[in-house]
Amino acid sequence: MYSDTVTKLINQFERLPGIGHKTAVRLAFYVLESPAQVAEEMSKTLIEAKQNVKFCSTCFNLTEKDPCEICSDKKRDDSKICVVENVKDVIAMEKTHEYRGLYHVLHGSISPMNNITAGDIKIKELLQRLSDDKIKEVILATNPTVEGEATAMYISRLIKPLGITVTRIAHGIPVGGDLEYTDEITLIKALEGRREM
Ligand SMILES: [Zn+2]
Repeated sequence: MYSDTVTKLINQFERLPGIGHKTAVRLAFYVLESPAQVAEEMSKTLIEAKQNVKFCSTCFNLTEKDPCEICSDKKRDDSKICVVENVKDVIAMEKTHEYRGLYHVLHGSISPMNNITAGDIKIKELLQRLSDDKIKEVILATNPTVEGEATAMYISRLIKPLGITVTRIAHGIPVGGDLEYTDEITLIKALEGRREM
């Protein structure tokens, strides 16, 4: 139905999360019908973002400098690490303006159904950070899903023997919900009501 190049363009858009075939076709035609400048700017920005934005080598948050703004901020409480599944969860937590500690982004959760084991996410890297005596508390803020709970449980078992306080954010966040879609008040309450694991 479409030429090879157009098909290829549609396929590229279809790879993006949340984009189905129909939307991919619409996006492809938007680009094709726009001035050449639009496509040039878009592709330039994509490449630039990929080149400039990296993961912080300490917390694995997205950053343009390493260590990231949060890890290198001397005013933050470096005795606490809040463990989250994704970069977007850091943004959700930061929006509350309540939490002043550090973060650790796991980049996923343990999910045997999807063949994701502890070794596939940044747990080893978290343990390495804990060898620093400064860390007094690890707040497990993984999502309240089956995978998020299993991940929190797994990490808590590893950390407790190290004599570090391990807390889990309170529920209030709907079960099966995502941190990134949780409103700020609920997230503040969940953080305040965290309990020791
Ligand atoms: Zn960082």
